[in-house]
Amino acid sequence: MEHSEQRIKIAVQKTGRLTDHSIDLLERCGLKVTKSKDQLICYGENMPIDLLLVRDDDIPGLVSDDVCDLGIVGLNVAEEKRLKLEQDGSKGLFKQIFELEFGHCRLSIAAPDDVEYAGPESLENTKIATSYVAILTDYLNRNNINAEPVFFSGAVEIAPKLGRADFICDLVSSGGTLAANGLREVEVLLESEAVVIQTLAPLGDEKQALVNKILQRLDGVLKVRDSKYIMLHAPRAALAEIRALLPGSEAPTVMPLEGSDDRVAFHAVCRENVFWETLENLKAAGASSLLVLPVEKMLA
Ligand code: ATP
Ligand code: ZN
Repeated sequence: MEHSEQRIKIAVQKTGRLTDHSIDLLERCGLKVTKSKDQLICYGENMPIDLLLVRDDDIPGLVSDDVCDLGIVGLNVAEEKRLKLEQDGSKGLFKQIFELEFGHCRLSIAAPDDVEYAGPESLENTKIATSYVAILTDYLNRNNINAEPVFFSGAVEIAPKLGRADFICDLVSSGGTLAANGLREVEVLLESEAVVIQTLAPLGDEKQALVNKILQRLDGVLKVRDSKYIMLHAPRAALAEIRALLPGSEAPTVMPLEGSDDRVAFHAVCRENVFWETLENLKAAGASSLLVLPVEKMLA
């Protein structure tokens, strides 16, 4: 058993929109954990890495207080904590390292359908209900708007109906919840997705090396997420056209085909998804025997 000091702790949302993606991503990095719903800690079976399962709002605090070395959390939650620490006069003790390409949403100001909105000046001398007081305050300050954030911990969208606020500032993805509550999005304050944050506390050489390894694997997993391995046969003369049809295909392998002077086998990794339309265009350019495979791992 390794010394617990040398184990890396990663804070992950216990139950919510980020949970499955976060754990899936770590599993793709090679981590095996036993997860049971009511556990606070999942111990890594094959790596000295443990997951702390917590409310997403607690993740930036756990990382900045060095209880956890890394955390996976929405940029909205990380930014709220960073700005809150900044507004309170202390420095955020975590850094943001990666965008993880899931958990996309926006933090936006929304107006009731019957209220006119002619730009940020319409917010002057109003009340805005939000759970994101620090981000909203920062936005208002940067735009020299005098408005009052009203803290709501949940169900922000009912604040205007209750007469508690004129506008709201909340997370939006499709806008369906807003529309159902007679609201419309008028101002985007933050484009958010899940990010990895790391404590600024020094980790020591051994732990830092482990963290670097995890980050490198995460990078590898993200890089290949949309990548495809494509194999095809084509006349040598068509190779230039074929490469032009496959953006992001670096250094392809070209091999002569047994018993053919003219046709070659072409293998390449494409950094972008390959759609049916692309395959049809490749065929029209002279390619045949087309095969597209998902890429699981990549280490440059
Ligand atoms: P917890 O119990 O952990 O506090 P929560 O209710 O605050 O859970 P979720 O609703 O699971 O959190 O959302 C977690 C994160 O998912 C958000 O902070 C945000 O980054 C992201 N997210 C993506 N789309 C949406 C959306 N449509 N509404 C809310 N959050 C979203
Ligand atoms: Zn939360």
